[in-house]
Amino acid sequence: MNIFDLTKALMSIPSTSGDEEAVGFWLRDHLQSLGWTVELQKVSENQNNVIAYLSDTPRVWLSTHMDTVPPFIPPTEDDEKIYGRGSCDAKGIIAAQITAAEELRRQGVEDIGLLYTVEEERSSTGAKAANLHPLAAKCEYMINGEPTDNDLAVGSKGSFRLKIKTTGKAAHSAYPEMGDSAIETLLDILDEIRHTKFPNDDFFGETTVNIGVIEGGVALNVIAPTAEASLLIRLTTPRAPIEEALVNIIRGRGEIEVLSCSEPVRMLAVDGFKQKTVRFTTDIPYLTNWGKPLLLGPGSILVAHTKDEFVLKKDLANAVELYVELAKKLLNAEIAKDAEDKP
Ligand SMILES: [Zn+2]
Repeated sequence: MNIFDLTKALMSIPSTSGDEEAVGFWLRDHLQSLGWTVELQKVSENQNNVIAYLSDTPRVWLSTHMDTVPPFIPPTEDDEKIYGRGSCDAKGIIAAQITAAEELRRQGVEDIGLLYTVEEERSSTGAKAANLHPLAAKCEYMINGEPTDNDLAVGSKGSFRLKIKTTGKAAHSAYPEMGDSAIETLLDILDEIRHTKFPNDDFFGETTVNIGVIEGGVALNVIAPTAEASLLIRLTTPRAPIEEALVNIIRGRGEIEVLSCSEPVRMLAVDGFKQKTVRFTTDIPYLTNWGKPLLLGPGSILVAHTKDEFVLKKDLANAVELYVELAKKLLNAEIAKDAEDKP
């Protein structure tokens, strides 16, 4: 199956997070038909990671996720592009990696594995389970795929998700002196946050804050007893100084509830590849046992998660060459190092 047909075949199986079972079975069958050893690693009742290899303990792995954001958008195409859900995030990437792995195999390189996870778009439970797999310890380099426009991402910002909750005292809106508005307190806090310059980092860039959701109050004639805001902070520093800054802003007027946090990650730089840092997060922070991480993939993150998601066919084809080159470089670097170590 050529790379474009493979991309469309994967895309035509809906797999929004939580519903990856069918695409996992399809991938298992497809890889088995090509002669790969394939394991399904159970993550939940109906979710399995797909783990495939040619040799017993591969040193270089290609990886990305099988789930997509909703809604399902079936694949369509023209001469230049494939459109639809998962075209760039990340089923086109799976197709490019399998095609690259098959090309490496044709060239006699079998020291490679493939890891496809569930649930990356929500809580990375797939990656967390994969991190406990025994093959992780034998992996030296993990080439993760996300849409980086085929550049090698050498750093990705972290993501800190939290709620700020305020409580007040309900009262009749005609007698505001009898109450204490949780909404007004929350607005004051959020206004200070909007005017705060959080610590930045030279390598990762600017720390940015999105106030994504505000909820609170009970009725327009009642002083609001409770309110809360959900924030997503793209971290360029460790979480601690940012959380400290938030505590200083809130000054006891509200509470922080941490929803999740992944710290910024540096990835391996390799000579000869165009490098950049990216602002999104990946499974990489949860795949710490899988060797040194690298990140590269076809397509643009700017169209991922949108109704207009697409991938350029020439980018898919380029990605195959880049994955092949990268894998060979990593394997040879190790071979060269081994040779140096030996007298
Ligand atoms: Zn993705």
